Amino acid sequence: MRQRTEPAFAASFDTTGETRAASFDIALTTTRTTELIDITEQVAAGVAETDLETGIALISTPHTTCAVIVNESESGFVRDFQDALERLAPIDAHYAHNDAPHAEEFEAPNGYAHIRSAFLASPSVMLPVRDGELGLGRWQRVFFVELDRARPRTVQVTVLGRSA
Ligand code: ZN
Repeated sequence: MRQRTEPAFAASFDTTGETRAASFDIALTTTRTTELIDITEQVAAGVAETDLETGIALISTPHTTCAVIVNESESGFVRDFQDALERLAPIDAHYAHNDAPHAEEFEAPNGYAHIRSAFLASPSVMLPVRDGELGLGRWQRVFFVELDRARPRTVQVTVLGRSA
């Protein structure tokens, strides 16, 4: 018979403190396509300032050609990730989006960046806030990923939780 492990509840259902929400923006200026920008410190500093003890932090971006991911800050991974994106949706391939009426007016052809963004499916990540800090593992970092060309970008952080 297969042994089952009971979930180890260490939950505290105390109702002290109040439930609050807070939000802040992080402004970025990217420099090239497939640039990974480590925003962990900015997110963590903002979360610490909210004074929320337990909750969730949603880290999102309101653009269609970028992503937010959680992964390791290691140069080999960064290169592998960039190579994988190029194999997935090469910059020079044909994209119908590049012929869209708005394409010439507002942006350089960026069909590849939309496809990469859609496949990453991560315009946001949600992380736990525990003991007033972002609940990241030892090797986890939060990255903003530019999938288009250099441009100004915004990351929105929304925190919902209980104060101490
Ligand atoms: Zn576009």
